[in-house]
Amino acid sequence: SFYERTQKFEPEINSYVTNLMEEALEEAQEKDKQLTQIEEIPELFGIPIAIKDNISTKGIKTTCSSKILENYIPPFDATVIKKLKEKGYIITGKTNLDEFAMGSSTENSAFFPTKNPWDTERVPGGSSGGSAAAVGAGIVPAALGSDTGGSIRQPAAFCGVVGLKPTYGRVSRYGLVAFASSLDQIGPITRTVEDAAVLMNIISGKDPKDSTSASEEVPDFLSFIGRDIKGLKIGLPEEFFVEGLDSQIKEMVLGSIKQLEKEGAEVIEISMPTTKYAIEAYYIIAPSEASSNLARYDGVRYGYRTPEYSDLEEMYSKTRDEGFGAEVKRRIMLGTYSLSSGYYDAYYLKAQKVRTLIYQDFMKAFEKVDVIITPTTPDVAFKIGEKVSDPLQMYLSDIFTVSVNMAGVPGISIPCGFKEGLPVGMQIIGKPFDEGTVLQVAHYYE
Ligand code: GLN
Repeated sequence: SFYERTQKFEPEINSYVTNLMEEALEEAQEKDKQLTQIEEIPELFGIPIAIKDNISTKGIKTTCSSKILENYIPPFDATVIKKLKEKGYIITGKTNLDEFAMGSSTENSAFFPTKNPWDTERVPGGSSGGSAAAVGAGIVPAALGSDTGGSIRQPAAFCGVVGLKPTYGRVSRYGLVAFASSLDQIGPITRTVEDAAVLMNIISGKDPKDSTSASEEVPDFLSFIGRDIKGLKIGLPEEFFVEGLDSQIKEMVLGSIKQLEKEGAEVIEISMPTTKYAIEAYYIIAPSEASSNLARYDGVRYGYRTPEYSDLEEMYSKTRDEGFGAEVKRRIMLGTYSLSSGYYDAYYLKAQKVRTLIYQDFMKAFEKVDVIITPTTPDVAFKIGEKVSDPLQMYLSDIFTVSVNMAGVPGISIPCGFKEGLPVGMQIIGKPFDEGTVLQVAHYYE
């Protein structure tokens, strides 16, 4: 049935860079035959899952939606892929994204934009727009995305699905093409909260191949599904319900919180004063790390190389000029500038200090509350072309999501209503490594 839905809807939404549905169908038929022969059926046996195209898949192109990696076939699997394979999943394809995950609309893909399944004149959000659109259109039951500043949660909100960014370190980044290494996390995009818990159980855990992955014990996330929320404390941060937030969305999220209060949760107003600097600090730290991470695309090691050049210097610069798109170049320049001597203290170091303050804001709040609830986005999905020529406008669509990455805490976006036929998302943020409670509240609400 997913195969048939894909035939029908994929031509309209363009969620895949590499569509492997034909192969997936064959694999499913093959797996059907095996069913009678295996004793213990692995959890994901035969379950189709789409993978964002910045997650390394052995033998399958991993392009990051960039010209520079257009024909790159990795010789290894990311740890998350290895884990999904062990559980018997079937890969349905590699999904479109903003080039190197830099963007909020999937319009920065070097190949084509993905469309929002609810209204094909609108963006699906980004950067995991292909994954969210595919799940939103019901052409696949689940997908993996990556989230550096909102790239799982924002497209999940725009496409009416569930998207979880785990605590930094919860999931191995081995094989995730690096954008901003201190912020990047892989996470699930699913139709239900329970499905997110299933995937979290599989992909979480310490990985010797990623030194930043955490050895914190991984609980059974499914055990949080169905738990009551009586007595649970919900933080309502005033700074997230201010000017710039659409009034209907504000009412919807506040209404949802009221609902949870009626069911026995306690709502506590909190203040997170450094929230207002999160975007500025993020757009210094993320590009700084990106400028360093993207230095590896030099036309020598792997990826695209310009066909004509007269010396090494020219080979480097032409390769990078032809291989990278405008947004990626903008970030490399911004990052290089912020890290250069003379500007480092004023920009990068300052931004790192702000990051610490943001972290402290969260920790202070979590002394009083169990979770924090906010809108995921200031408005619903915008029109294709509306913000793409105005990067600052585009950056502002991350206003409610970036601080979660800066603090390294987990956050989920779940659907909480519709505005003019378009889905609205609500964000539930938890303490470090407490995805369990986040899933509990999300499932209860759902
Ligand atoms: N939209 C944000 C950016 O452009 C976040 C991207 C992401 O989370 N990968 O950086």
